[in-house]
Amino acid sequence: MKIYNKEIRAGKNEKVLIPIANLPSGTSIDLSVFVFRSKNPGPTMLLLGGVHGDEINGIEIVRKAIAEDYFKNLSCGAVIAIPLLNEFGFIQISREFPGGKDINRSFPGTKGGSLASRVAYTLRKYILPNADFGIDYHTGGNMIYNYPQARYYGGNPESASLAKEFNMPYAIESSLIKKSIRKTAHDKGIPMVVFEGGESSRIDKYSIEEGLRGLRNIMASKGLKSMEHTAVKTQILTNGKWQRAGRSGIMNLFHESGSYVEKGQIVGEIQDPNNSFKHEIKSIMTGVIYGHNNNPVINKGDAILHIAEIKH
Ligand SMILES: [Zn+2]
Repeated sequence: MKIYNKEIRAGKNEKVLIPIANLPSGTSIDLSVFVFRSKNPGPTMLLLGGVHGDEINGIEIVRKAIAEDYFKNLSCGAVIAIPLLNEFGFIQISREFPGGKDINRSFPGTKGGSLASRVAYTLRKYILPNADFGIDYHTGGNMIYNYPQARYYGGNPESASLAKEFNMPYAIESSLIKKSIRKTAHDKGIPMVVFEGGESSRIDKYSIEEGLRGLRNIMASKGLKSMEHTAVKTQILTNGKWQRAGRSGIMNLFHESGSYVEKGQIVGEIQDPNNSFKHEIKSIMTGVIYGHNNNPVINKGDAILHIAEIKH
């Protein structure tokens, strides 16, 4: 297997540095790629963290898996692990690259483009051709918590079966977004599953544990390594909708992500600091809450609860 300028022979583990650009201060930024190869032939799994620079849980999952020797002594195949794809966003605690560019909307990327476009190009040119399938680890938004979940492309049975093997509490079908990593990989015949867990700029131990458990499940089911794992029941969600705040004020939620709610059920309340009103938040539908807003100060119209129906 060749990654950038380095040949990784069977049975070897290597760290490959791919130069991207210098910071304005002169510091050089290299993409760190960790490669683990078994002596025995088999599939190659790609793990991506930090596609969005402030989504720390995803970075932590990939970092921990490497630190805890998940990929040492593989039974077969190989693992390519990139804990942090967007180093520029990471040091600025930002989702995007400088200039507000989202790498997940910058594919296929060009050699001479913006930083986001260059990193997209690097991933497409040097990494993707070596991968057979992948997991792209994300985290919810700013103050937006996502219950650990897998997102897969329903149009590709391999993507759906990856999500099944990943075995998160929730799995949601999600279409391929133009210029995304997942779309580019899919077009090259590489199924990917996207993990979402916790919120940006915040460590969520439960999400990290779930992301690692899912990884162990996939490694075992693909025969990469037999790893200890426990199974949970995955609920397939559909028709997800954001419930929006009917009033501005201080929000107290009685039910958060991971709860089952019925249409009309009181799931929280909004009051103003002067107690001039009390607004009850009634669930807009029957289903499960798979994401919620952790910001206590809410404006009318803000997205507060992400609810979906359970697909039977
Ligand atoms: Zn993300």
